[in-house]
Amino acid sequence: MSECITVNMSNKELLKKVVIELVDEEAIPIVMYLRGKTKISEFIIAEELELEIHKTRFLLYKLLEHNIVSFIRKKDKIKGWYICYWDLNEHMLDHLEKKIDKDKIEKLKLRLKREEDNQFYLCRNACTRVDFDQAMEFSFKCPECGELMNLQDNSRTIEFLRERIKDLKDEGSSS
Ligand SMILES: [Zn+2]
Repeated sequence: MSECITVNMSNKELLKKVVIELVDEEAIPIVMYLRGKTKISEFIIAEELELEIHKTRFLLYKLLEHNIVSFIRKKDKIKGWYICYWDLNEHMLDHLEKKIDKDKIEKLKLRLKREEDNQFYLCRNACTRVDFDQAMEFSFKCPECGELMNLQDNSRTIEFLRERIKDLKDEGSSS
């Protein structure tokens, strides 16, 4: 079989992309800290990153929702309470990235369909863009400035959306 295909982005970049798209930029230090480590207590994470424990937990649970991290809960023998130990699921990255791209493509396809199936109206000041039914309701007068609303040629928008979809599909098949 062919050799393992190298990913375009480094894992670090990929990790950042996934975290920004799915969770929050704020969670980046946590995943960067967890790289190459195993079973790190949330207290250690909070301490090392100088984050509040509540904030740390909040971000960890958000990461958990997307399977970016996982944890085990262990009873602390001395203190008697339960502590969560966290791991980064680096092997999930490719899968998560593909999912992000797939979702993006789906959204773009919906937008494209809406553009293709509808006619849009706009006044010359470009206050607001409405579909035919709405334009009818407004008697083709802009609800904001009162100017006449004209049919907008959306062929460039359609072309742009088609290109974006194609690019994303190409990216997906080359990585
Ligand atoms: Zn207007």
